[in-house]
Amino acid sequence: MTPEPTRAQIESEAERLFSRGLADLGYTDAELLRCARLTWKINALKKLKDAVIPVHVYQRAEIIHGVADFTGDSYKLSKLCAQADAKRIVFCGVRFMAETAKILNEDKEVLLPAAEAGCSLSESITGEQVRRLKAKHPGAPVVTYINTSAEVKAESDVIVTSANASKIVAKMFEMHERVLFLPDELMGRNLAKALGRKLGSELITWKGRCIVHENFDAASVALYRKMYPGVKILAHSECSPGLVSVVDLIGGTGDMMSYVEKTKASSYMLITECGLGDLARTRFPEKTFVPMCRLCPHMKATGLERVLRALERPTPAQRVELPRELCARARKPIERMFELAEDRAKE
Ligand code: SF4
Repeated sequence: MTPEPTRAQIESEAERLFSRGLADLGYTDAELLRCARLTWKINALKKLKDAVIPVHVYQRAEIIHGVADFTGDSYKLSKLCAQADAKRIVFCGVRFMAETAKILNEDKEVLLPAAEAGCSLSESITGEQVRRLKAKHPGAPVVTYINTSAEVKAESDVIVTSANASKIVAKMFEMHERVLFLPDELMGRNLAKALGRKLGSELITWKGRCIVHENFDAASVALYRKMYPGVKILAHSECSPGLVSVVDLIGGTGDMMSYVEKTKASSYMLITECGLGDLARTRFPEKTFVPMCRLCPHMKATGLERVLRALERPTPAQRVELPRELCARARKPIERMFELAEDRAKE
């Protein structure tokens, strides 16, 4: 049975959430108390159930600051999940991330609190479509963004994240004349430009798009630069090439956070999902952040109640199950990513 906190325990937990900067993000006292009751119960239960809670940086602030054992981008989370020392993983993110955790932790129970949380990129391509592309472009290695289903990963040669896509695609071009990059069309166009490769003949992409990042436009960047002189503008590599050409940094969320940490600027604008700006505000309270973000409905589908439910009594849909044979095939290109990203490859 889930332990119930006393009034004093709830107030002490609410103070902890306050000290993590949630009030600065707009949480009222009543909201902090409501969250505190749930985070206290989740934290108590995760010890009893021997569970870890990885949390993606786009998740709600009460989840990141309230219950996360580790927080990060897809690459960091997949590495940490591979080393997770617990019976259960309660993944606060979207389905392809929880599937990646399952692929790397076959014998553990993996739970996805927001069972329906998908991703427009992941849903843009199927395993069958990858097989057809491979037949059309024989010999070209399939480099697949981590935002894909287990079935698509299983058809791939190597997985990449926004943090290492450029490095790994460049390595593939050292061995091959043509590379298939799936499924993010905009990231593929950005990579082709950055690596000086011809789109369509050398770097072949798919038509997937992130519904959050495809909608930012370059025109507003010039306006913001006038309004906030000295602002550093950072954009996610899933944004359009037009936008990417007018910003100070293009990269993954980890690259953006590290840029903010290492530079001194009058202000910063993080062009990505709103969760990253919230996290940056709590992590760097002395810095100024100009709002320019969009919400991902999939990422925001996770709430504390659903995390608690997954720990207490998971629904069948919250349990992430994958056939062993599929896990084995999908694990290979992920391990290949770890080798290539860390220069451990033999070739
Ligand atoms: S932000 Fe975009 S890429 Fe990330 S989960 Fe949402 S739709 Fe998918």
